[in-house]
Amino acid sequence: MVTCRAVLRLDSPPMGAASKPPEGKNALLRNLPSIEQLLRRPSLEPRLANLPHARAVAALRLAVERVRARLLSGDARPFEDADVEAALASLATPNLRPVLNATGVVLHTNLGRAPLAPEAVERVVAVARGYSNLEYDLDEGERGSRYAPLVGLLRMLTGAEDAIVVNNCAGAVLLVLAALASGRECVVSRGELVEIGGGFRIPDVMRQSGTKLVEVGTTNRTRRADYANALSPDTGLIVKVHRSNFALVGFTEEASLAELTELGRSRNVPVFQDLGSGALVPLVGPGLTLEPTVGQAISAGADVVAFSGDKLLGGPQAGVIVGRKDLLQRIKSHPLTRALRVDKMTVAALEATLELYRDGRPEAVPAQSLLVQQPEVLSARADRLLDLLKAHGVTAWVVSVDGQVGGGAMPLARLPSYACSLTVGAPEVFLERLRGGEVPVIGRIADGEVVLDVRCLSEEDLGVVAQSVAAARLGSQP
Ligand SMILES: *Cc1c(COP(=O)(O)O)cnc(C)c1O
Repeated sequence: MVTCRAVLRLDSPPMGAASKPPEGKNALLRNLPSIEQLLRRPSLEPRLANLPHARAVAALRLAVERVRARLLSGDARPFEDADVEAALASLATPNLRPVLNATGVVLHTNLGRAPLAPEAVERVVAVARGYSNLEYDLDEGERGSRYAPLVGLLRMLTGAEDAIVVNNCAGAVLLVLAALASGRECVVSRGELVEIGGGFRIPDVMRQSGTKLVEVGTTNRTRRADYANALSPDTGLIVKVHRSNFALVGFTEEASLAELTELGRSRNVPVFQDLGSGALVPLVGPGLTLEPTVGQAISAGADVVAFSGDKLLGGPQAGVIVGRKDLLQRIKSHPLTRALRVDKMTVAALEATLELYRDGRPEAVPAQSLLVQQPEVLSARADRLLDLLKAHGVTAWVVSVDGQVGGGAMPLARLPSYACSLTVGAPEVFLERLRGGEVPVIGRIADGEVVLDVRCLSEEDLGVVAQSVAAARLGSQP
């Protein structure tokens, strides 16, 4: 009670504010039922009787907490049994759950990036259920390496001598720098001092790894000679960062990876390429731009290459490092490797995804197939969504839109796609309603209209989307 009064005093409306007198609110707060009372309340009994006691208590606490917040915000509705029902529904809904991606951004970082292939999901389930030989060599009956299942596949798919996998590509970059150049200089072009997103900035990562950043060239032009002049006995690495999330156009020049590796060889300095996206095969499709593959970077002589597992590769979140055996040995024995290690579910999903590439089936990787869809296919799918919307009494139009690769890959690519466009009074409110449905649907606004891009929606998803739109539209009526 004391707490409530204290909160109220802080919260009391300014002089002359036309709200309820604080005494009324105070009384309502004082009269909030206790958990004990609610557990004995006859009207709640049938609802709570079959639940585990702890869950019932958790729901009642949540309900009372919410009503308290409601009263403090000036809404005078007292505690009702319906509040318990709503709290029970909240507890039954996981915080992390599937959503439908109608944004047209394939590798949407906020929506979990790459959807996994069924083969990868099955493999995760198989090892997650019980024990596995994660770090156990079945031939020798002794401790093995958790990276062993991946090394052979990665060597084959990239042409590199050795490989290791860590938590994500940001971690991979940190680890490579720390293991190969801590206390030494790293030479990077001024045109490649990028921020990846989420505040991951190359200069900051260099500082964290204990390496000293040596900037060369200018924002728009950097030549081989700039690197050559900056090399010294203190140089630990030449670093090349793929400009994955922005483009440099106009009066530009950059030293190619091949030029840098030739320079590195002649001066005995290893070259590290942060590739970001990590395409294993050339990806060709409408609207897609050219993305260098990992194999090309290795062929160009890169000593170490790092790339993401859940961008163009289409696997689980991971950071893959491939390259020269002696350098990988130093990386594997660095203490950060242990801190950044991947779990069994990641190894399982990545192995299964890499197998699809090994078997020449990149189209079985959802991230790949979603990116290369033909406009006719998308147009026909948008027509089907339109029909479903019409069947629900919703007026909409099919419009052509530009989708994106996402995940900070191919920043200039505009993927020709189709969407259903809805004219609604308040687009923001409508999108919020779509997010609040049983299966949240994530759309976007273009030219003041709600657009639902069908690129990342399956045939089964279309029916769910149509239903959600119909429900959201009803919610908008007074
Ligand atoms: C995306 C990206 C990263 C970070 O990869 P995560 O797997 O998201 O940690 C690092 N470098 C480049 C060039 C990138 O594009």
